Amino acid sequence: MKTINASIITIGDELLIGQTIDTNSAWMAQELNKIGVWVRKRVAVGDVWDDIWNALDEESKDSDIILITGGLGPTADDITKPLLCKYFGGTLVVNEDVLKHVNYLFEKVYRRPGPMLERNLKQAEVPDVCTVLHNARGTAPGMWFDRKSVAGRARVVISLPGIPHEMKGLMVNEVLPRLTKIFEFPVILHRTAFTMGTGESMIAEKIKDFENSLPEHIRLAYLPGYGMVKLRLTAKGDDKENLEKELNEKFSELKELVSAWLVSDEDESLAMVVQKILKEKNKTIGTAESCTGGYIAHLITSNAGSSVGFKGSIISYANDVKERILGVTDKTLRSVGAVSEETVIQMVKGAVEKLQVDFAVATSGIMGPDGGTDEKPVGTVWVAAGNKDKIETIKLAFRFDRARNIEMTAHAALNFLRKFILANT
Ligand code: ATP
Repeated sequence: MKTINASIITIGDELLIGQTIDTNSAWMAQELNKIGVWVRKRVAVGDVWDDIWNALDEESKDSDIILITGGLGPTADDITKPLLCKYFGGTLVVNEDVLKHVNYLFEKVYRRPGPMLERNLKQAEVPDVCTVLHNARGTAPGMWFDRKSVAGRARVVISLPGIPHEMKGLMVNEVLPRLTKIFEFPVILHRTAFTMGTGESMIAEKIKDFENSLPEHIRLAYLPGYGMVKLRLTAKGDDKENLEKELNEKFSELKELVSAWLVSDEDESLAMVVQKILKEKNKTIGTAESCTGGYIAHLITSNAGSSVGFKGSIISYANDVKERILGVTDKTLRSVGAVSEETVIQMVKGAVEKLQVDFAVATSGIMGPDGGTDEKPVGTVWVAAGNKDKIETIKLAFRFDRARNIEMTAHAALNFLRKFILANT
């Protein structure tokens, strides 16, 4: 089966100077990959006419689909639209539907008083050689150009706004459905094993025979995260039924091999895993966070529906809050300090009581860059998880910068809580 190649060109000086991180092409690549498109290149260029033009020429040589984001706005540096118009030999004309939509947004949604600026009205101008893609979330429409009449391999060039939320809406509602209609994509299936508690090399050693046994059309990817490794099997073929069967067999083999570290057999976040457990067991949790400053609570509440099992958090950063709210004793703080086993045990006790939850997790550590001592260097963390009858603790030692220490601590603590709940319900 012929591979359908795509290139993604992201436009904007802000991408080149690092002011904006190009999350658009990462998200688009994932979505394209899901439907069977092979993204062969991601290119970032500045708001420079020749650079954009050359990138289009270059990517047209080997890609069937070119997706562009950015440079569609009403300001002078937004040159994508006139450039594409010239590239495809068209003229800019006012599109009545887009004009109506722009008027509607300014009057009813943005509620801007007075007449609209000329530059805003220009948003309704589109090249007469493209199909307009409705941007329900903003003023700049998407544009779809068919490449049949122009030399080069690219069959479609699609231009989308740079604002991630608008780009995503257009991709989901307009672009992906059209692509699946005009191209014949191979069947692509994924299965993901989510592991925690060991590193990539250990896993690679454990599954090396399995990896070598994989047929050409099933590939394994290691996707490492904070304290976790996701193992994704991707199968590509024509016959969905047989492919699914073959992939499921391989996935069962893989799960068996990594069973000691397996957290979930779905591609989900750790917080989602915990949320599912809470729902299934009808239990509640809370957090008492010192060094993570509410980050565990943030991970949990980032999921829609987290209110089912999560009741709240006490961010006890200062010692007096640990004492007054959670009941950590002055004696403990004075004798062994805030970063200690005794402290996190008392924090869990306090959280279970104050938040009236079935389970709680507590963190206390030194995230750096300052505050470390010989006895407790930067990266030293105590974590406790428990219920009203029993509390377990773990001491962790990280060696990263502050941001990464916080991430690692939050994920490790949440996983510790997950294991405690599973073992005690
Ligand atoms: P609009 O016309 O809707 O304002 P636009 O097409 O002109 O959008 P830009 O002006 O390039 O897009 O960028 C708009 C916003 O989107 C900026 O805040 C920018 O930082 C952000 N953005 C642009 N490109 C990307 C990208 N590749 N990844 C993430 N954010 C991006």
